[in-house]
Formats: sequence, C-alpha cells, structure tokens
Amino acid sequence: MYEGAVQDLIDELGRLPGIGPKSAQRISFHLMQTDAAEAQRLADAITKVKATIRFCARCGNVSEGERCRICSDARRDDTVLCVVEEPRDVVAIERTREFRGRYHVLGGAISPIDGVGPDELRIKELIDRLDAEPIAELILATNPNVEGEATASYLSRLLTPLGVRTTRLASGLPVGGDLDYADEVTLGRAFAGRRDIAT
Ligand SMILES: [Zn+2]
Repeated sequence: MYEGAVQDLIDELGRLPGIGPKSAQRISFHLMQTDAAEAQRLADAITKVKATIRFCARCGNVSEGERCRICSDARRDDTVLCVVEEPRDVVAIERTREFRGRYHVLGGAISPIDGVGPDELRIKELIDRLDAEPIAELILATNPNVEGEATASYLSRLLTPLGVRTTRLASGLPVGGDLDYADEVTLGRAFAGRRDIAT
C-alpha cells in the first residue's frame, strides 16, 4: 500500500501482539513525524533489550544476568513459591507488596486450541525446584480465565501427591481477564485470601 520502508515498518509493527493494521499505520506515521533522536531512542531500546535481557535460569523471569533480581535476593522467603504464567504477572504481584516469597514463570498456560500442552511450559523445571528447594507452599497464580484455571488444576493434580501444599488466589479477580488487569488492592486481597486447592 505504501512505498518500501514505510510499508516495511507497518508490516513489522503489525506483527506485534495487540497491534492491528490501523494502529500499525498510526504508529508508523507518528514515528515518521517525530525527530530522528526520539526514533533512535526507540530503536536503541529494542536493540538493547535483545542484547542484554535474557530469562532467569532458575525462575524464568526476565533478567539481566544468570539469575534475576528476585532470585538473587537473600531476604526472600524460600518456602513459598508463586507460580505465574508470564514475567508481567511477577510485576503485577510485586506491585501489591503482599508477597515476599519466590516465583516460577511457566511461560504461558495450557491451551489445546493454541497447541500449548504441559510440555511447552516450564513444568519440569518446577518439579526440579520442588526437589532442590525447601518449598512448603505453591501459590498457583495463573490467570483467572479458562486456560489459567486448567493450568492450575493440572498443576495441583500433578504436584499435591508430591506432598506440597497448593493454594489458589481468592475469588474477586476479574474473571476471564489477565492477572495484571486487576488493580493492586484487588490482587493484594486475592493474595492474602488465597485458599487451599481441594484435589
Ligand atoms: Zn529468577
């Protein structure tokens, strides 16, 4: 539709999650009108994140080193492990200041429609951690939607026989959405009111 470089930019932006063709076009024209230094800062930020950020070898959170900031923090409680789908869920829970334990990022949720089964998630790594770390409680903080609930019940069936207590966040979270859609107070309350999963 447009010439060379403009269309390339629109196509690339359009591949990003949550950005449709109209938004891709709007952002492209915005970038064309901004000054070169500002556009360069965006390009640099993308290049830098790809060059420096990786995933924590222990929990799967985003990290600048071998281990993330939370895994490296000796003051965190080793006995409580909060299992989430994505790194952004870690951020959402950290914002509540309700939780002082550690995290495990699965890298998604079980979703047969999208071809995501247990093997595609970091579940083996989770079982290894249960062996290696003094974990007494697993908080299954997957999203309050169909895939998140399916993942939580799968994990609870798999892990409860291993003798670890599994809990789920209290109701009150917006059903069908993502964890990070909830405001801090609601999420904090759901955390404090977590309940044991009956298996
Ligand atoms: Zn980590």
